[in-house]
Amino acid sequence: MIIVNSIEELFEQTSAFNGSVGFVPTMGALHEGHLSLIREARAKSDFVVVSIFVNPTQFLEGEDLDAYPRKEDADAKICELAGVDVIFMPNAEMMYEEDELSIMAPAIRGFVLEGSKRPGHFDGMLQVVMKLLNLIAYNKPTAFRAYFGKKDAQQLALITQMVKNYFINVEIVPCDIVRDADGLALSSRNVYLSKEERVRALTLSRSLKKATELVMRKQFEVVMIKEAMAEVLKEVDVQYIALVNRQFQAIDEVEIGNTIILVAAGVGSTRLIDNLWI
Ligand code: AMP
Repeated sequence: MIIVNSIEELFEQTSAFNGSVGFVPTMGALHEGHLSLIREARAKSDFVVVSIFVNPTQFLEGEDLDAYPRKEDADAKICELAGVDVIFMPNAEMMYEEDELSIMAPAIRGFVLEGSKRPGHFDGMLQVVMKLLNLIAYNKPTAFRAYFGKKDAQQLALITQMVKNYFINVEIVPCDIVRDADGLALSSRNVYLSKEERVRALTLSRSLKKATELVMRKQFEVVMIKEAMAEVLKEVDVQYIALVNRQFQAIDEVEIGNTIILVAAGVGSTRLIDNLWI
């Protein structure tokens, strides 16, 4: 495994690739969730590239950019064990110039849910993903797949749309959410939680479980499901509970095979998101 810190070094590596490439973009502090993406990439590609970059343009004023966990040595070991070929670890200076042109999230899908709670976040996220995809594809791999978690469901939908709208030659592969044994969706931000907060954080996945139970009893009415979820989420600071179709349009009734249930909540000073695909 080789760690590269510049675009020139990255190109040196990727120009020698003679086969398919699987790419996993991350912000580091790797956990089993990231690892599941890496494993899937490893199983399906000749070469695996992981990027580790805490992208400043997707953090809003007052968010945790400086505090975001950085664990480069541990990350490198995890990648090495998982059979990654190249880790790309750029810095902000080489990724951005002063007066950049920007990419904007679409007006409807990009401005609901996370987009409304974190205005500008998706613009920055799409900008960096566009750059990273172009960088990895630069030397024209025979096949190019990029792996993203369903954990960030709206992000995944917007990246899929960007790839379609801008005719980017990459296959986006959605990967299932990985959870701790108690149900908490893995996130690099879970390290911020105190013991007591971690217990309250479990209510996010529990509320989704509650929703599943209702759907299994053929209770498809969104108002009722939201009410039941809110009851489970009483001890956290709920930012939204939403049921949407795969296009992120609000729905009144659950449609099996075309529904995502999403929840976002503050637990202490940590903001958590979780979701369930039905
Ligand atoms: P991040 O480092 O938070 O930017 O995440 C990098 C990638 O890992 C994104 O595609 C996330 O959706 C994915 N990811 C993060 N947590 C999980 C999880 N618990 N299960 C599956 N994928 C995840």
